[in-house]
Amino acid sequence: MTDNLAKGSLEVIVGPMFSGKTEEIINIAKKMDFANTHYKIFKPLIDTRYNPNEIVSHNKSHLPCIRISHGEEIKKHLDSNTQAIIIDEAQFFNETFYRDILKLIDEGYRIVISGLDTDFRGEPFKTVSYLLAIADKVTKLTAVCSCCKKPAVMTQRIIDGKPAYYNDPLILIGEKDSYEPRCRNCHKVIYSNGKE
Ligand code: ADP
Ligand code: MG
Ligand code: ZN
Repeated sequence: MTDNLAKGSLEVIVGPMFSGKTEEIINIAKKMDFANTHYKIFKPLIDTRYNPNEIVSHNKSHLPCIRISHGEEIKKHLDSNTQAIIIDEAQFFNETFYRDILKLIDEGYRIVISGLDTDFRGEPFKTVSYLLAIADKVTKLTAVCSCCKKPAVMTQRIIDGKPAYYNDPLILIGEKDSYEPRCRNCHKVIYSNGKE
């Protein structure tokens, strides 16, 4: 049961693919286990990579989760013991997701959310930028650039071995063959006139 008097909090963890977001929320969940904090883990229904009923890090660590389509569904999966809510891949939720999160913060839950801050073009995922705006704490992680090994802050999309076009569809569920972490210098997007 959450404390009726105390509001909750929101921590948001962002960064490009392979920056360790899922690893980080798995570590947070493990610490909650030690602290006897009762939590539930969620991810969007659209994310069907690996086991659909687990969040899975590229380092192979994994924990069971509940899949939901909308933020409104979270509440019905909580029980009277639930104190914390952990959510992965938040970029796939709709742009009103932050309102569901605000309600849950008001109800006293400790919420930890991870997701991509930018798409393959380097532009913000709106729903994640709203979450960053309302967060108590923000952590930005970096990966290692797949080209030059400097810190990577962007996600490179590659289709048939070449950088994706700006107008290619935004969401494609994929793995290392189609996305890699890159620094700003090595990140490339092809515009429709063929320029990078
Ligand atoms: P995210 O959820 O941000 O995509 P993960 O937690 O799934 O990240 O994966 C992080 C793990 O990915 C690292 O611990 C490391 O084992 C692996 N990894 C593979 N390639 C890279 C890279 N280029 N930079 C950093 N980590 C990488
Ligand atoms: Mg992840
Ligand atoms: Zn680089």
